[in-house]
Amino acid sequence: EPGATVRDLGEALGVPPTRIIQILMGLGEMKTVTQTLSTEEIELVAEELGRKVEVGTLEEPAPEEVAPEDSPEDLVEKPPVITVMGHVDHGKTSLLDRIRRTNVVSGEAGGITQHIGAYQVEQDGRRITFIDTPGHEAFTEMRARGARVTDIVVLVVAADDGVMPQTEEAIEHARAAGVPIVVAINKIDVPNANPDRVMGELAERGLTPEQWGGETVTVPVSAKTGEGIDDLLENILVVAELEELRANPKAPASGYVIESRLDPGRGPVATLLLNRGTLHRGDVVLAGTAYGRVRAMFDHNGQRIKEAGPGTPVEILGLSGVPEAGTRFEVAENERTARSRAQQAEERLRRQELAQSGPRRTTLEELLG
Ligand code: GDP
Ligand code: MG
Repeated sequence: EPGATVRDLGEALGVPPTRIIQILMGLGEMKTVTQTLSTEEIELVAEELGRKVEVGTLEEPAPEEVAPEDSPEDLVEKPPVITVMGHVDHGKTSLLDRIRRTNVVSGEAGGITQHIGAYQVEQDGRRITFIDTPGHEAFTEMRARGARVTDIVVLVVAADDGVMPQTEEAIEHARAAGVPIVVAINKIDVPNANPDRVMGELAERGLTPEQWGGETVTVPVSAKTGEGIDDLLENILVVAELEELRANPKAPASGYVIESRLDPGRGPVATLLLNRGTLHRGDVVLAGTAYGRVRAMFDHNGQRIKEAGPGTPVEILGLSGVPEAGTRFEVAENERTARSRAQQAEERLRRQELAQSGPRRTTLEELLG
C-alpha cells in the first residue's frame, strides 16, 4: 500500500512541496517530491506548519481565537457570536428582527440597515454579534466544513408550544459542537403561554433551568412586545463572560465566510466573520479558491470602514470568486502567495471531484489507507 508523497502532502496542506522538503531537512530527513512519507513524518510536517493531522485524516486547523503565539497582554475581550435556533414558527426570525430593530449599533440615525448576514448589537457598552440566518442548516453545514463560528446558541422555544422535534435537533447540534445554550422562552405575551411547562420539558432533556437549581439560563421573552429582550442580551453576556472569549486583535486576520454572492455591479461580495486579528482595507484575503485584495469593506450598516477586529462581521469587495459559507479565510502575505494557494485549493478540489466520480485514489485519507 503506497503512502502519500511529498507532493501529495504539499497539495493537501496547501503549501509548495519545496516547503515540505525544507521542513523534512530540518528534521534530518532527505526526501524528493515523489518519495512517500510515513504517517509519523506527515504528522511532524503538519505540526511544524501548525496543522493538526489525525491518522488517516487531514484537517484544516481551527482558527482558534487564541493561538499559541498570542501573548496574554495582547488578548482582549471578543464579542460573542450568536446563532439562533429552534422549531419552525417558534419565533427565530421575529426575535432576530426585534433585536436588530431595537438594539443594533447603528452608524447614523435613520440609516438603512442592509443585510450582510450578521449584525452587532450593543448592551451595557458591550457588543454581541448575531448571525442573521436562523435555522439548523447553516449551522450544520458550516460545522461540516469545520467552521467554528458560533460561541453561543440561543434556543428559541415558544411558550405556547413547548419542546418540539426541531428543538431537540437544535439541542443535539449545540451539544455536538460543544456550544453553550441560552434558552429564550418566546411568545410569553400569548394568553395560553406556559413557560413553566417549557422549563419542565427542558429539564427532561438535561437542560435544567437555573431557576430550578440547574445550569441552563432560560429567559422569558416576547419578540412581539419586546419584553425580556434586554434580559436575554444581558444573560448572553454573562454566559459569554464564563466562556472567556478572547482574541488577539494584533494578529493577522482570520475567520470564516458567512455568506457570499456575485453582485452584477460590484463582483464577488463576501461577508466575513473575524475570529482573530484585525482585517484592514488593502489586506490580501485568501478564502478557499477565492483570493484578492480587500478593495472596500463595510460594516453591518453598510458604512465604509477601514478595519475590523475579532468577532466583527464585515462585507468585503475584491475577491476573485464567491467562496461558500463556512469557508475559512485568512490574510496572505501578498497577492502572489494568495494566488498560488488558491490555485492549489482549486487543484485539490478538482482532484476530490475526480476521486468521487472515478476510481482514482486521490485523497490523503485513502492514500494512507
Ligand atoms: P420562525 O419560523 O422560528 O422564524 O418563526 P417566525 O419568527 O417566523 O414566527 C412565527 C409566527 O409567530 C409569526 O406569525 C410571528 O409573528 C409569531 N411570533 C413570533 N414571536 C412572537 C411573540 O413573541 N409573540 C407572538 N404573539 N407572536 C410571535
Ligand atoms: Mg424564520
